[in-house]
Amino acid sequence: MSTELASDRGLRVEEILRAFDLRLGSSTSGVAYGGSFIAKPSGAPVETRDPSTGEVLAHVLTAGEDECKRAVAEAHKAFLEWRLVPAPHRGEVVRRLGEGFRERKEDLARLISLENGKILSEARGEIQEVIDICDLAVGQSRQLFGREIASERRDHRLVEQWHPLGVVGIISAFNFPVAVPGWGWAIALVCGDTIVWKPSSLTPLISIAVQKIIHDVTAGTEGERVFGLIIGRGGAVGEALLADERVALIQATGSCALGDRVSAALAKRSGRAILELGGNNAAIVLDDADLKLALRAVAFGTVGTAGQRCTTTRRLILQRGIAAGFLDQLQAAYRTVHIGDPLDDKTLMGPLISSEAVDDYRKGLAEIKRQGGKLLAGGAVLEDRGGYFVEPAIVRSTKDMPIVRDEIFAPILHVIEVDSLEEAIEVNNAVPQGLSSSLFTTSLAAAEKWLSAVGSDCGLANVNVGTSGAEIGGAFGGEKATGGGRQAGSDAWKGYMRRQTCTINYGHELPLAQGVSFPVD
Ligand code: NAD
Repeated sequence: MSTELASDRGLRVEEILRAFDLRLGSSTSGVAYGGSFIAKPSGAPVETRDPSTGEVLAHVLTAGEDECKRAVAEAHKAFLEWRLVPAPHRGEVVRRLGEGFRERKEDLARLISLENGKILSEARGEIQEVIDICDLAVGQSRQLFGREIASERRDHRLVEQWHPLGVVGIISAFNFPVAVPGWGWAIALVCGDTIVWKPSSLTPLISIAVQKIIHDVTAGTEGERVFGLIIGRGGAVGEALLADERVALIQATGSCALGDRVSAALAKRSGRAILELGGNNAAIVLDDADLKLALRAVAFGTVGTAGQRCTTTRRLILQRGIAAGFLDQLQAAYRTVHIGDPLDDKTLMGPLISSEAVDDYRKGLAEIKRQGGKLLAGGAVLEDRGGYFVEPAIVRSTKDMPIVRDEIFAPILHVIEVDSLEEAIEVNNAVPQGLSSSLFTTSLAAAEKWLSAVGSDCGLANVNVGTSGAEIGGAFGGEKATGGGRQAGSDAWKGYMRRQTCTINYGHELPLAQGVSFPVD
């Protein structure tokens, strides 16, 4: 970057930070509970960097052991009151939160582009997701339905009802620092739960900004104390949240390794979890597909968010008839992708999140080659500039290469050729993860087979739509090593409440279920 460009960007960075009262290079608190930030939390500070330049943006003061406990205690105290607020009134608080995010959409989108590195259009989409889920949650607040079941006993009523659960601990990943935690908190809040959020320490300023928006909106309302933030390393702050018995539910988003850790910790105290873990998503293109449409979907699925989405297309399964032509066109499309500053409107691909992510990209490509994969396009680390930029890579792989089973969280696409739909489904399902999957075809029979019980084994199965970019109306989540959790719309709200089955006898006899007789005087 020239000196002039660099100083231009520097000014822009300062302006983006100032929108949330943050200052370049300063120290700022990453801990809030009871409705305000804690001025000097006691945990070790973390540095946050601009992935486009590698420069330090700020130092964030993290939660120590005491602050973690206090945050949960405050959230629990707030829960005892919040659960009594009628659900539609809780919905009103969430409606105002949605308005708050609408008003700050541009400011927050620019901060996401700065600290996370995703391009502005995707960053705006991320805030839109929060706005959408708030809208959905407002409606949901009037629809936390139970049901009545026919009782087998005379003068008896059998009903199921739903109650608030308690404190929800949200552990979130760097790649969706606002939307994915938002899917959880918007729904959990209308359900009557309160929140302690442990975001990724790779994107702390974004979570501080979110917390500030929430404070601004909820100050002086019944929701003033329902949301707490504890920034800190997973091994310290995250573990404290997992161990705390007052946390009724953990919503954890991250790698499959994180899921193993959460499951083990919660098993010790029979805690509940919603796990949203790694993906290894495939797009299948059959010979009869609309290739133009498929090409655009595959390009966005592979290159979007620099390959750092849980739903990124990592495996492209091509039927042999169209394979060579489709690959040529995909490589041509890759050549038009402008890689650069995510704050610049013409950029389609920003940087990776960190130098460690660049190392993983390098090591991943080296291992693919060692196992017999062939590099077809990209593969370089862009060392002509600062920051963590790489080229998106396409590799020809075979379904038997062990590395095809792993999620490498970088823009590397395996291309595998197959002869039939049946073989494509077999390859799609032959990995440990089960998040998203897509089939491109114009055949109704092929599409329906793909969606049937012998088709895709993933939580998301699409037809003529790419693997990434889900809408919030459907339940979002995956199967197998992806964890089996569900978030966002549909009936995902049930995961944030406790179900109670009630039997009421309004007669004067005591008939026992299943006709059991037990005559005592
Ligand atoms: P990560 O697993 O490194 O970290 C995720 C979160 O877990 C962070 O907040 C981290 O601090 C915390 N953590 C780490 N160790 C912990 C511990 N011992 N106890 C408690 N918390 C701990 O993931 P990442 O690199 O931030 O994100 C990328 C991963 O997330 C990818 O695997 C991606 O597929 C996955 N992801 C999944 C979904 C989904 O919905 N399925 C969505 C987004 C991201």
